[in-house]
Amino acid sequence: MSDISVLGIFVADVSFSGPKIPAVGETILGNKYNVGPGGKGCNQAVAIARLGGKVNFISKIGKDDYGQLALDTLKKNNIDIKNVLQDENLQTGVAGILVDKNSGKNAINVIVGAPSSLKISDLDNQIKEIKNSKIFLTQLEVPKNVTLHCLKTAKASGCITILNPAPASEITKEFFSNIDYFTPNETEAEFYTGIKITNEKEAKQAVDKLIHLGIKKIIITLGEKGLFYSDGNEEIYLKANSVKAIDTTGAGDAFNGGLAFGLSIKKPIRECLEFANKVAGISTTKLGAGDAMPFIKDI
Ligand code: ADP
Repeated sequence: MSDISVLGIFVADVSFSGPKIPAVGETILGNKYNVGPGGKGCNQAVAIARLGGKVNFISKIGKDDYGQLALDTLKKNNIDIKNVLQDENLQTGVAGILVDKNSGKNAINVIVGAPSSLKISDLDNQIKEIKNSKIFLTQLEVPKNVTLHCLKTAKASGCITILNPAPASEITKEFFSNIDYFTPNETEAEFYTGIKITNEKEAKQAVDKLIHLGIKKIIITLGEKGLFYSDGNEEIYLKANSVKAIDTTGAGDAFNGGLAFGLSIKKPIRECLEFANKVAGISTTKLGAGDAMPFIKDI
């Protein structure tokens, strides 16, 4: 049994790095391209495994070249693959990523592929595994009824639940009461609260609004500005580590992986946040998402 279960998707990230992100209708000459492992769920699982966590990844892939990339990536990172379903009639997901090499910022189009057909009834064994985990971490890339069912099951079984609400999309009230930690970035926090976040004060306003919705603990990640945490009582603001960021793809995933790992070894919240902030900062100094997740020796 694993300490941490992650439900989410794998996609092959096809990324193009260049002097800027092209505007609509524009063609530019880039510098480098790379095909590597991505998908928020898979990136978060890789981050946890590289930190030394025992992680179970729950997902669905096709039986194609990118599906093989998924299996190779998981095996290479010592991640249990018995809960990854494979369907030869479906495509493994792909993401097209445009990276500005000067700022490390990106624009992404994700084709979810196989996991978009995930059903609760496919997941009997996976749900047993969730019940026996300490931590359950997920995002909003698989069908929402599956996400909610797994969150509810995890919560009812005493797991600590983390929802990284990405990409941001409407969720019902039922979600809120089943989330211990909610980890939006600034854009996602704005989606759920209507508050545009440019500083600590606005982050605090957004967090208060989310706490009123019934979520217990909120962490808004603020990119190169760091993060803001509150449980309605204790508030923690941490600046980002100063690093030379070349590609911020997957920074949020590194953060969520670091947080889940920290919680699984029962670190106090401030230490979990400092640790996750560091893991995420280091991930921005390498190109790619899954491949950019740091190892515990790098921290
Ligand atoms: P996402 O990748 O989901 O958009 P953010 O951009 O908010 O998430 O980044 C998540 C975390 O990654 C931040 O809270 C911070 O810890 C780290 N991070 C992101 N960008 C940088 C940067 N330029 N320098 C240092 N740390 C960064």
